[in-house]
Amino acid sequence: MTSEPEAWPTTVSDPGGSPTTGEPLLAVEGLSARYRTEHEAIDAVRNVSLEVRAGETLALVGESAAGKSTIGHAILGLLPGNAEVQADALRFRGASLLELSTEQLRLIRGDEIAMIFQDALSSLTPTLRVRDQLSELFLAHRDIGKEEAEAQALEMLSRLLPDAERVFDSYPFQLSGGMAQRVMITLAIALEPRLIIADEPTASLDPSVRMETLQILEQLRDQRGVGILLITHDFGVVARLADRVAVMYAGAIVETADVRTIFKAPRHPYSFGLLQSLPGAHREGRLQPLRGQPPDLSDLPPQCPFLPRCPKAVSKCRLEDAPSLELVGDEPGHLAACYNPMVVPIR
Ligand code: ATP
Ligand code: MG
Repeated sequence: MTSEPEAWPTTVSDPGGSPTTGEPLLAVEGLSARYRTEHEAIDAVRNVSLEVRAGETLALVGESAAGKSTIGHAILGLLPGNAEVQADALRFRGASLLELSTEQLRLIRGDEIAMIFQDALSSLTPTLRVRDQLSELFLAHRDIGKEEAEAQALEMLSRLLPDAERVFDSYPFQLSGGMAQRVMITLAIALEPRLIIADEPTASLDPSVRMETLQILEQLRDQRGVGILLITHDFGVVARLADRVAVMYAGAIVETADVRTIFKAPRHPYSFGLLQSLPGAHREGRLQPLRGQPPDLSDLPPQCPFLPRCPKAVSKCRLEDAPSLELVGDEPGHLAACYNPMVVPIR
C-alpha cells in the first residue's frame, strides 16, 4: 500500500473482528440527496440511516428510482455536480468521510472501499485496455513495478475469466456486457477492500457466471470479513448473499430487518407487495412492478408516499405526516415506517 492520507490512521478505530459488536465499517446517518435540474428538484434520497459491519451484507432493495444507486455514489463522493448531499454522519471505520479531501477520498476508493457500478461498460475508461486499467490500479495503490502489477492484474482477472489473456488486451468497447462486468468486479476486489458497494453486481451476467460472482463475494465476506452493501432488484441474490435487508421506497428506507424476517414476515405493505409478487415458493427472481405508479420525487406529499398504492391505508395515513421507522414485531432490529403494518406472515 502506498501513501495513506495523513489523518487517516490516527482517526480510524479498529474495525473489529466481530460482525455484531464494535464500530461498524460503514455508518450512514440522516443522508439526503437532491438533484437539481433546470425545472425541478428531485428528492432522490431522504433521511437514510444504515450500517454495514465487517463480514456482513446489507441489501438495499426497491423498485427503480427508489434512490439506491444515489446512496452508493453519495457514500463515495461520486455524485454529479447537480446533486446536493446532506448527512448527519458518513463514517468509515470510525472516521468521517465528509471531512476528507478529494485526494483522501480517491485513495480510500479502490483501496479500502470499492464500488461495482451498475453500468459496468460505461464505468470503464474507454481509451485504456483492460491490461492498463487493472495494472494502473495496482501501481497506484501498491509499492510494486509495472511488470509485477501486470502479473498480479492478470492473475486476478483469471479468477473470474477463463480467457483472461484475450480480455486483458481488449478495450472496453470490444467486451460484452458480461465481460465488462467481470472486469469491473476484478477492479473492485483487486486491492482487497474492506467494504464493497455492489450495485446490481450480477444483472448482466449469465446464470453460471452469476453464481461464480456471488460465490466470490460470499468468500470475501466470510473469509476476509469484507462488508458488502448490496444494491439489487433480484431477490434470488438477496436470499443468497444478504444478512440484513433495507427496503427503499421513494428515497427512504421503509422497512429493515434480518433477511429471514423480511422474507417470512414483512410488515410494511410495500415490502409485502414486493415479496408477494415474486414467482415461486422460494420467492426468487427479479422484482415485479407493483400496481400503480411510484410518486413524483419532485413533488412529494407530506403523507406517506406509498399511500396512493397502499391496500392497507387507514384514515391516519391520510391525515398525518409520513410515519417514521419504528420497531415492529418480535425480532430485534425489525423496523417499519407504517401506521397500519401487516400482521400475517407471507403465504
Ligand atoms: P434503478 O433500480 O433503476 O437503478 P435506483 O434506485 O438506483 O434505480 P437512482 O438511480 O438512485 O435510483 O435514482 C433516484 C432518482 O434520482 C430517480 O428519479 C432518478 O431519475 C433521479 N436521478 C438520478 N441521477 C440523476 C441526475 N444526475 N440528475 C437528475 N436526476 C437524477
Ligand atoms: Mg440504480
